[in-house]
Amino acid sequence: MPTAIRFARHGGPEVLEAVAVTVGEPGEGEVRLRHTAIGLNFIDTYHREGLYPLPLPSGIGVEAAGVVEALGPGVEDLAVGDRVAYTSRPPASYCDVRLAPAAHLVRLPETIDDETGAAMMLKGLTAWYLLRRSYPVQAGDTVLLYAAAGGVGQIAAQWATHLGARVIGVVSTQDKAALAQAHGCAEIIMADEDVAARTRELTGGEGVAAVYDSVGKETFMASLNALRPHGVMVSFGNASGPVEPFSLLELASRGSLYVTRPVLFDFIGTRDALLAASAELIELVAAGSVKINVSQRYPLGAAAEAHRDLEARRTTGQTVLLP
Ligand code: NDP
Repeated sequence: MPTAIRFARHGGPEVLEAVAVTVGEPGEGEVRLRHTAIGLNFIDTYHREGLYPLPLPSGIGVEAAGVVEALGPGVEDLAVGDRVAYTSRPPASYCDVRLAPAAHLVRLPETIDDETGAAMMLKGLTAWYLLRRSYPVQAGDTVLLYAAAGGVGQIAAQWATHLGARVIGVVSTQDKAALAQAHGCAEIIMADEDVAARTRELTGGEGVAAVYDSVGKETFMASLNALRPHGVMVSFGNASGPVEPFSLLELASRGSLYVTRPVLFDFIGTRDALLAASAELIELVAAGSVKINVSQRYPLGAAAEAHRDLEARRTTGQTVLLP
């Protein structure tokens, strides 16, 4: 019987349960997909705990790779046996077999293995829109990137460096500092330092062109203080909790700053947008310009343990669950 991880109430990792499910035949526009690897993401913890509430009971997980097993009516651009990867909502990727909308799937080239595909879609496409849309990085820019040794962080550090930026990474341990440097960060600031003051030291007093801040509540004001006039604050996560309300005058007094609070799915909402963004990502990964490091693997049934490790800052790079 196919297995899915589901939860019936919001809460800690203990609410995640493996349940036997029935997976029928694919409907119009759907395929049946046998997963080979599933990506773990911080957003999964927001769904589980209810920061981003879901109708309950709910599935969980927004990223995976697998093999197409059956096609529903109207699916023309995929074939049985195709290797694909995706990021999609509603959350349901923590499972071994599922029905999935064909419009969300991207075919993987032979040069990209399944674990890489499963780990790179949500995090890699996030790095894409952060650096190519939210604040399009220019060669010669200096930017500040939080959680630089993490999942999105390692990919964004490599990609920004590839675009010619100088990346200052923020991390919490010396091991993570070494990893972030190995993935392109030119400078490192430790999370317990005065991040704004250190950023100004490293930029001759000017501040950075953009801050990519996934930590949220704890770091928001320091991030504003690290920007140059007209700088762009890209607040894209809540690892320490959601950012609290603030006065727009905080932006005026620091030099006409910009703030954006983006969400990946608004940048890949059409099939064309998804395919164009994925093509950029796949090209860089296939060429080795962006390396996807799967540093942790857990059996699908150990999803709760994976959540504990992610929330306790014990993971680096990418993490996959294996069905
Ligand atoms: P990571 O692998 O980056 O793990 C989170 C990291 O955040 C930790 O390793 C840790 O790094 C850092 N961190 C800082 N403060 C805390 C805290 N209080 N608790 C836990 N971790 C903390 O996760 P992901 O790559 O999956 O996601 C990174 C961030 O990007 C998340 O906030 C996620 O929500 C966000 N995101 C947003 C998207 C969007 O479209 N808006 C899409 C994808 C991800 P360190 O120890 O070095 O500080």
